[in-house]
Amino acid sequence: MELQERLNDVRSRIAAGERGAGRLAGSVQLVAVSKTFEADAIRPAIEAGQRVFGENRVQESQGKWPALKAERPDIELHLIGPLQSNKAADAVALFDVIETVDREKIARALAEEMKRQGKRLRLYVQVNTGLEPQKAGIAPDDTPAFVALCRDELGLSIEGLMCIPPAEENPGPHFALLARLAFKSGVEKLSMGMSGDYETAIAFGATSVRVGSAIFGTR
Ligand SMILES: *Cc1c(COP(=O)(O)O)cnc(C)c1O
Repeated sequence: MELQERLNDVRSRIAAGERGAGRLAGSVQLVAVSKTFEADAIRPAIEAGQRVFGENRVQESQGKWPALKAERPDIELHLIGPLQSNKAADAVALFDVIETVDREKIARALAEEMKRQGKRLRLYVQVNTGLEPQKAGIAPDDTPAFVALCRDELGLSIEGLMCIPPAEENPGPHFALLARLAFKSGVEKLSMGMSGDYETAIAFGATSVRVGSAIFGTR
């Protein structure tokens, strides 16, 4: 199958998921995850109308996205991988949305950089819904207070929560937990669901899904 067919297939499954959940058409945003793929492999997706992309490494993104963004200024780039504070300046310069704010140190570094660069990125707080020791993300119980700190003390624009459920578990309860935490925290957006479970995530209220291999092929 060609990239365009795979992309169309994902789009129609998202549309079916929206209908199945009684949600408005177009209420779920597709973030096409292009990590490990080079600019030439990404361009066909842009030509097919895709404008929102996700990457998990700052340095890799610096190698390909400045040129692609120069070709299409309406592209929206999301950072969906872990961020170190020494990369905050580069991340603020390149990305439009950062989905992986998960500790006070990085929240402060981002606040400072955005002020310095005169940019205001939209942000998500990453939640470690499965409390996995090897995984990034704030603990579920700490989420509402952390969102409040980011917003009220640091003035950040936190628009939602993001999670990556444990690989070997049924993702439904994790998606439901993220939705409850968003409600408690007073944020509206839910970034959840990947190639293997994005239809489930939509049923649980995802407002964006991060889909990589189902569009670009196996990595
Ligand atoms: C790689 C990645 C994805 C996409 O995963 P696929 O299974 O290829 O769809 C989504 N979210 C994050 C955080 C990722 O790192």
